[in-house]
Amino acid sequence: MARFIFITGGVVSSLGKGLASAALGALLQARGFSVRLRKLDPYLNVDPGTMSPFEHGEVFVTDDGAETDLDLGHYERFTGVPARKTDSISSGRIYTNVLERERRGDYLGKTIQVIPHVTNEIKDFIRIGEDEVDFMLCEIGGTVGDIEGLPFFEAIRQFAQDKPRGQCVFMHLTLLPFIKASGELKTKPTQHSVKELRSIGLAPDILVCRSEGPIPVKEREKLALFCNVRPDSVIAAQDLKSIYEAPLAYHREGLDQAVLDAFQITPAPKPQLDRWEDVADRIFHAEGAVKVAIVGKYTQLEDAYKSIAEALTHGGMANRVKVQIEWVDAELFETEDPAPHLEGFHAILVPGGFGERGTEGKIRAAQFARERKVPYLGICLGMQMAVIEAARNVAGLKTAGSEEFDHEAGKKRFEPVVYHLKEWVQGNAKVERKVTDDKGGTMRLGAYDAVLAEGSKVAEIYGATQIDERHRHRYEVDLTYRDQLEAVGLKFTGMSPDGRLPEIVEWEDHPWFIGVQFHPELKSKPFEPHPLFADFIRAAKDVSRLV
Ligand code: GLN
Repeated sequence: MARFIFITGGVVSSLGKGLASAALGALLQARGFSVRLRKLDPYLNVDPGTMSPFEHGEVFVTDDGAETDLDLGHYERFTGVPARKTDSISSGRIYTNVLERERRGDYLGKTIQVIPHVTNEIKDFIRIGEDEVDFMLCEIGGTVGDIEGLPFFEAIRQFAQDKPRGQCVFMHLTLLPFIKASGELKTKPTQHSVKELRSIGLAPDILVCRSEGPIPVKEREKLALFCNVRPDSVIAAQDLKSIYEAPLAYHREGLDQAVLDAFQITPAPKPQLDRWEDVADRIFHAEGAVKVAIVGKYTQLEDAYKSIAEALTHGGMANRVKVQIEWVDAELFETEDPAPHLEGFHAILVPGGFGERGTEGKIRAAQFARERKVPYLGICLGMQMAVIEAARNVAGLKTAGSEEFDHEAGKKRFEPVVYHLKEWVQGNAKVERKVTDDKGGTMRLGAYDAVLAEGSKVAEIYGATQIDERHRHRYEVDLTYRDQLEAVGLKFTGMSPDGRLPEIVEWEDHPWFIGVQFHPELKSKPFEPHPLFADFIRAAKDVSRLV
């Protein structure tokens, strides 16, 4: 049966709770344990699928087709354990489940209350798959004191009571602000945060304190005394140059040891940290740098393309180069020539996106990359725009466009080389969708197989002709135009196994121009860079050597 680690946060948000959880997961693996990480989010949205990337960062998609919080991306990147639908839940989903049961009469007419009905629903969720792993790490989103978070805190309190003693450990992440004027690290906000936790019945076993520098002994002792934790369970989380240093840094600080001590696991198995030492070595001993432009819409918030930025970094690690990413607003190219903005980059990436805004700019970026022979990676919408560009500017289909934009505008303006997918096969079941279906949950989501053409560049890059990758989209490139596009050199080198859905296109006679309908970035890891990103950066490195 799994042991449970509950990770909560206090003082302020954005302290890196997800990263601390992910790094701890990696360290427990390094000690030979199996882990699963889960995120419990107090917000009332049913899932993050319809939340704006401006507000919430990217939507991370799992193999089994769940649209989840971007923290699940961190978990996967650090542990390599593919996240599942059952690894992420929100208050909205919990309440929906409870209310649906109430409507079905499952509660036999009882009065429905937060305790026990909502808290039981949360506890049932936490228990899913508890026999499969040694450690289950559950991160509670938000900070202690948030009104939406209370049922979650209450549920984990009860959960620990339900389990035998020593089965659950609580870890609390806070901030130690440094006051310049007095030259002091302040422990008071942490003390208050722990007091708040204790007032709802939770006592942390481990305190992880985010600070700019090391925590002096005096402050450490004070925190231990006032917060009722052992001094060696006060762990400093100092600012790091790279997130991938986190497992080693937390190990040096004694986090994994403190956790094993809290569970009274003795003797603690020795950690095998070579994987993370190699990762750190590749990051800190890069030879040279490449510049990559990401031409997108949500450029104000980098978290909107979190997995892409990470996958590019992994690609850099595979080639021992640093990847300098610049975010370029696609809308700029609707009025301005892209050339002065894009010259000087060694590669161009056009990421996924929804809606028409910025798409003409993305099409121009694809054109620039094709004509100037700059490595181009188009992901999802970025592939669709590359196809439209090819259709308009090379194959002579002057009015080529996507049905997505016509649908938005409510009138027909384009020849839809990208059309709305109404039905497809998943496993052996047929899925049918209408344009007018609900916004949430109407997409081709999760892992689908693709077959790669023998001898194509992608088959060479993957070293395989059968792959599976994660999807999140409603529209597809229309096969009707395949012959016309292939005749001018845009080859359809990846297809769904039934041959109906284009998965990959690539330009022949171009050093590196690939568009993929799926999201390869979601499966890239620092210790296992995704082959497409590794090769994309290799191509960028070749360009950087030429200039
Ligand atoms: N908007 C496009 C579609 O729905 C692309 C989606 C994406 O890039 N993730 O097909």
